This record gives sequence, structure tokens and C-alpha cells, in this order.
Amino acid sequence: MTEGNTQHWQALGRRHHLPPFSDYKALNAKGSRIITRAEGVYLWDSAGNRILDGMAGLWCVNVGYGREELVQAAARQMRELPYYNLFFQTAHPPVLELAEAIAEIAPAGMTHVFFTGSGSESNDTVLRMVRHYWAVKGQPQKQVIIGRWNGYHGSTVAGASLGGMKAMHGQGGLPIPGIEHIDQPYWYGEGGDEDPEAFGVRMAEQLEQKILQVGVEKVAAFIAEPIQGAGGVIIPPDSYWPKIHEILARYDILFIADEVICGFGRTGEWFGSDYYGSAPDLMPIAKGLTSGYVPMGGVIVRDEVAAVLNEGGEFFHGFTYSGHPVAAAVALENLRILKREGIIDRVRTHTAPYLQRRWRELADHPLVGEARGLGMLGALELVKDKRTRTRFSGIELGMRCREHCLDNGLVMRAVGDTLIISPPLVISEAQIDELVSKARLCLDLTAGEVE
Ligand SMILES: *Cc1c(COP(=O)(O)O)cnc(C)c1O
Repeated sequence: MTEGNTQHWQALGRRHHLPPFSDYKALNAKGSRIITRAEGVYLWDSAGNRILDGMAGLWCVNVGYGREELVQAAARQMRELPYYNLFFQTAHPPVLELAEAIAEIAPAGMTHVFFTGSGSESNDTVLRMVRHYWAVKGQPQKQVIIGRWNGYHGSTVAGASLGGMKAMHGQGGLPIPGIEHIDQPYWYGEGGDEDPEAFGVRMAEQLEQKILQVGVEKVAAFIAEPIQGAGGVIIPPDSYWPKIHEILARYDILFIADEVICGFGRTGEWFGSDYYGSAPDLMPIAKGLTSGYVPMGGVIVRDEVAAVLNEGGEFFHGFTYSGHPVAAAVALENLRILKREGIIDRVRTHTAPYLQRRWRELADHPLVGEARGLGMLGALELVKDKRTRTRFSGIELGMRCREHCLDNGLVMRAVGDTLIISPPLVISEAQIDELVSKARLCLDLTAGEVE
């Protein structure tokens, strides 16, 4: 590849492409980085640079790039049956076999799956499904869904409404009616001097307060990510989930665990809900389901909920690509790879403990106020003053550091001044060493600019 090609592609982008989550003016002034190929945990750009992908694409390439088995699964299915819909009392083998395979790995009592094309579609599905569920049960007034500020549940109208990203709400008149938010269990950012466990309990108690404020007869469900991803890899204090479980058990509402990131091994268990011992009623999934090789999402549904839907007549909901046969064949093979190679066990017993140990070493860096992580997730809080947790103002430090990373062969993502990682689950210990030393180099380069 040559620089000439890069300029050609960047020009096409400026002329014709409106990419997601982008400031078009700023991007067009600079030009996109063009990614041309990938293998294992590495990407290559059009200038020939090799980049360690510390984000597994967008939290999704769990089995790594370049998996010939997934290519073959897709090609086989495209030849056999490239498409057929599931609307009018038809089905096909790949979607049925995938539903069975997911039922086998899902938490106990969750053996039904509704398929979608993405995580956002999965959350649009849960919104309609829980309201329909309560209507079938004779409680149509149970409509309100409680989410969390700074939660992320996708970018469609329902997904963005359930999420608590204020900048997203500001565009397009969101959230839609019937959605309420409580605070997030973000101790480093919002807990101040409070003991983390006391803070966790206090944040969880907001759920009970909100249920009582809205009226339990009106509340349909609570939705939350086991660990917030896009919000900045926010890991709740240990006290948080047990308190939430206790409150959920007290009131007659459904629990939706958004497993789009935590699902399929990210925490060292199949699902984040397994890690935290949660018993959700619905679990939106996507991302790691296919390791991102083709788009696919779904909602795993508890049997009691499926039994009610069973009595509800037609559920007027679905997508042309629900359970797409090629996506289903790829997902099925992806699950086989995860099992065959013992990838999740290896994460739990080896790579996650190693990553977490190495990652925490970065806490000694002058810019790093906290280095936290769990499983194959990590975050660094960049601050001016570690003791008071004061941020740098007006210089977009996180973005600067992210740029240094890209220029030095590492993808880390910046959420404000929080840098985050979510590498492919197949990353090796040597590659973790490379990730951590590149991260340190980029922190040094960033620190050099602010001194
Ligand atoms: C990415 C994400 C979504 C949205 O998934 P898309 O496939 O981008 O629509 C929903 N929930 C969570 C937790 C996510 O991380």
C-alpha cells in the first residue's frame, strides 16, 4: 500500500461517506485512518503500519482476526441457503442449531432466543417484548423501564433512550416516554471520599427509590450492563449487584442484563451474569456472538417469560435479517471455536489474571489516577492530581493519548479522560506485555505535552 492509496480513500470518505459517531468537519479536515487487513490481534493500515487492536474492533472480535473456520462456515452456508426469512412459519437449520447452542451455554432456565441484526435491535426488541409480556399478563400499565445514566444500550431510538448518554438524548428528542434513569455505580468518578462499598449500596438503593417513586404497578423492567462498557469500563463495587438482586427480588419487575459486551467470554465466564451470579429475565446479546465477522444480535429469554409470550398471540415484531442463516452459521462456528480451544477457561485462569496484574502496574504513572479492570476489560483514569482526582481541563487529554497510541501501534479508546481496552480473548501473554509497554510509552508522550 502507498500513501497515494491512503489519500485516494480519504478523499472518497470526504466526498461520499457519513461514518457513525463522528464529527464530520473535524474528521474531514484530518482524514480517516484506513484499515486494510487484520490477523490475530493485529490490524494493518493503508500505510503498512501494524497496530495491536486493544479494543477487539468494537469489543467484538473475541476469537481474533483471520479465522478461516468462520470464512468456511459463511461460504458453505451461502452456497447452501444464503437467505430465507423466519416470518411465516418457516425456519432453517442454522438458526435452530444456534438457538440450541445458545440455550446450552446460557444461565439456567434461559433456553429461548429471539434473533436480531445488532445490539441496538436487541434492545428495541426487549422494550417491546417486556411491555407485551406485561400486557399479556393483564398488566398493560406496567410500561416504564428503568435504565442508568451513562449506560449504553445502542443507538436506535429505543436503545439510545434506554441508555443514559445525555449527548445522545440531546439529538432527536430522546428519551422516548416511559423510560427513567438512575445514577451509575461509578465510584472513581462520582464516589468522592465515600467508602466504595457504601457507595455501591447507595447507588443500588436508587433502584428501589425509583421503583417506589414511579409506582411498582407501572414499572416493567430494569436494564443494566453487568459492567458498563462504552461508559468507560465501569466496574461496580462488590456490594452493588447483591443489593440490586435483593431489590429486584422484592418487586415484581423484569431484569434485563445487557450482555452485548460481557457475553461470550469477556469476563472469563460465558456471560457477565454468570460472573455476578445474576438471574436475568432477558439478555440482549450481539458483538462476541459472531466475533464481529458478520452482524448478528439476539435476546436470550427466561422460560417463564417465553411461556407468557407463548400465550400472547402474534408478537408483531421482527427483522428481515432476524436469524440470518449466514450469520447463524458463523455464530455457531464461533461458539464451537470458543469451546474447542477452551478460550474462556484460558481467559479465566491465565490471560485475565495476567492482563489485570500488568495493567495495574500503570497506576504508578504520574497521569494515572486509577488503573482498573476485570476479565479482558481495562480502564485508566487520567488526572492532573491523583489525590483530588482533578481532571485536566480544556485539552482533551484522553483523545491526545489515544492519538499517540494509534501513532505507536496500539488501539486504545478514549471516553473523555478515561482510556479503555477490551482486547481479543486470544491475546497472548507476550502480546499483553506489548500492549502494556505501548500504553506506558503513550502515557509518557502525553505527559510530556502537559508538563
Ligand atoms: C455495542 C452495544 C450495544 C449496541 O450494539 P450495536 O450492535 O452497535 O447496535 C448495546 N448494548 C451494549 C452494552 C453495547 O456495548
